[in-house]
Amino acid sequence: MDSKGIVLVTGASGYIAGFILQQLSREGWTVRGTVRNLARADEVRSALGLPDLQLFQADLTSDAGWAEAVAGCDYVQHIASPIPDAEPKDENDLIVPAREGALRALRFAHGAGVKRVVMTSSMAAIAYGHPEPRPVFTEQHWTDPANPDTYAYIRSKTYSERAARDWMAASGAGMEYVSVNPAAVLGPVLGKDFSTSLEIIKRLLDGALPGLPNIGFGIVDVRDVADLHVRVMTAPGMDGERFIACGKFLWFREVADVLKARLGTRARRVPTRRLPDWLLRIVSRFDATIRMVTPELGKVREASSAHAMTTLGWTMRPEEQTIVDCANSLIEKGLVKS
Ligand code: NAP
Repeated sequence: MDSKGIVLVTGASGYIAGFILQQLSREGWTVRGTVRNLARADEVRSALGLPDLQLFQADLTSDAGWAEAVAGCDYVQHIASPIPDAEPKDENDLIVPAREGALRALRFAHGAGVKRVVMTSSMAAIAYGHPEPRPVFTEQHWTDPANPDTYAYIRSKTYSERAARDWMAASGAGMEYVSVNPAAVLGPVLGKDFSTSLEIIKRLLDGALPGLPNIGFGIVDVRDVADLHVRVMTAPGMDGERFIACGKFLWFREVADVLKARLGTRARRVPTRRLPDWLLRIVSRFDATIRMVTPELGKVREASSAHAMTTLGWTMRPEEQTIVDCANSLIEKGLVKS
């Protein structure tokens, strides 16, 4: 089949980027990726099953390599952004690479005559810093980064999407921009390098939590998130659009119920009792990942994906399938305690 064109996907070693690269390749696009370090090139190609994937070395914090990576591309999918597994000492460790990386991707894409940049933003840029009772969030909402309801990662995604949109308004003439704003992304894994979001399932399966915290999140499947990125890349009339990708909001206890019901003995370490909030706060003193999510105690953040569904005919898998496929995949790849 003739190539439909060339697409650069930034952060090719990442979880979501991997599924986007695979879908684009399946659909007949010539795909390229950036990685921070080309020493990982073979590992990335092999995990993705894309032996011919062209990879370029480019960091979010430096201009080196970007011009070569984007030369001749029709589209850019800008996915790379740091996701911490603990709150950083200095929030600029996240904010600077996220924001500068977004601007760098746009600047080099524009210079190379790219038609459209699709950027992975996040519900983090939408659903935080709002007074209670929180609404069901839509694309009209923006996180208030000055509100204490936010933390470094939330602010990094908010500032980077804002900066990208401001840059496009000031300097982006002739190029189009769309953002995809997913909730917690779960689903099967391709290799051992999976995203921090999968810690939700891994920790339950490992029995790493002394109980089920009173914390919840909107869930979306990585395959559906990839599909939305690919749809918005070429759909007409998308410039400036923003699309939430968020399924049902589930508490940890509801995720645990699905694992227990569907995985049998494979879910034997999944706790059944509730973890009181005071005990979670104690655990968080010793566990930096838990500390990062402790501000989420008891908070419901629901969002509507109606815009993507009605505008693009996009659909989501049932959340139960996402959870089960995620767990089975972690188990089959030997990424949880046997
Ligand atoms: P991931 O697997 O951790 O991928 C992050 C990617 O960014 C990796 O390829 C990483 O490279 C790259 N990266 C980080 N810092 C970099 C730097 N300084 N220079 C170049 N590359 C850098 O996480 P993911 O879940 O796929 O996330 C991808 C995107 O989705 C991010 O923008 C994230 O904010 C967004 N998102 C994720 C979720 C979720 O639940 N997972 C939800 C909403 C939005 P290395 O492999 O070298 O570290």
